[in-house]
Amino acid sequence: MEEYPRTLREFEADFTTESACREFLFRLRWPDGFICPRCRTHGGWSAKSGRIICNGCRFGTTVTAGTIFQDSHQPQTVWFRAMWWMTNQKTGLSGLGLQRLLGLGSYRTAWMMLHKLRTAMVRPGRDRLTGTIEIDEAYVGGLEEGVLGRQTEKKSVIVVAAQEDGSGIGRIRMSHVGDASAASLHGFVNTSVEPGSTIHTDDWTGYQGLEAKGYRHVATPIKKSGKQSHELLPRVHKVISLFNRWLLGTHQGAISHEHLGSYLNEFVFRFNRRTSAHRGKLFLRLAQQSVAVEPDPYAGLIKGVRERRTQKYKRLG
Ligand SMILES: [Zn+2]
Repeated sequence: MEEYPRTLREFEADFTTESACREFLFRLRWPDGFICPRCRTHGGWSAKSGRIICNGCRFGTTVTAGTIFQDSHQPQTVWFRAMWWMTNQKTGLSGLGLQRLLGLGSYRTAWMMLHKLRTAMVRPGRDRLTGTIEIDEAYVGGLEEGVLGRQTEKKSVIVVAAQEDGSGIGRIRMSHVGDASAASLHGFVNTSVEPGSTIHTDDWTGYQGLEAKGYRHVATPIKKSGKQSHELLPRVHKVISLFNRWLLGTHQGAISHEHLGSYLNEFVFRFNRRTSAHRGKLFLRLAQQSVAVEPDPYAGLIKGVRERRTQKYKRLG
């Protein structure tokens, strides 16, 4: 049974202090008890400094070390409020919106917090879409901040995959790619769609060769079909128009190409959970993913070195 606040009132009651927030994060990061990020030993104790000390190697760490919250000067209570509002507002919020809502001193702080939370919205090793999937690219333009005239015509290419669910849309994936070449598009398909699935595209040459990679590929030539692209692939086009509306509405179109990928992450996170009965569940997912840290693949290899070092210095960090 997952525990998460159902209402703003419950949220406010649950997370009034730093320690309440940290205990919540602790349970999400280590549901079966503390595991040392260095030596993988189970069990540790809390030092007066607030650090958790490993029973095995005596390494000292914190619940936020290695997560998006590391090195932040903001209290955890402020981060929790940012996570709550970001997931409870149906269309999310802008840096300026968050700054006003939380009374933060600077726009930059608010923007950085949202930016870090967006990076946590992509679950590491997430599953790929299955079934019948529409795929198409689109150009997102006019994103440059403070650029006037012709330069604003610079455009970025995004690719969208939308799962068919009857006549509606199931789950989606979106990505910012360098161009619409076969290399870029095949790379996107490979990370977003499970082989064996059916992929429906137009007849752009960049999609040729998908069968050789284990996909069923249905390519409909736009010209011959007598239809327009949005009629041929209605789901991806619906997603693209919702995304554009969100950029213009919530963000006034004022985002840079450099950060487009992170806005796509946020849009996909929210879209794929749009039917969730409880917004609190989105808050829980975001908090969970914010402390999800990939295990260090080298931890085992250099364990011996670290143990010797730890003995020498007693306490690290
Ligand atoms: Zn350890």
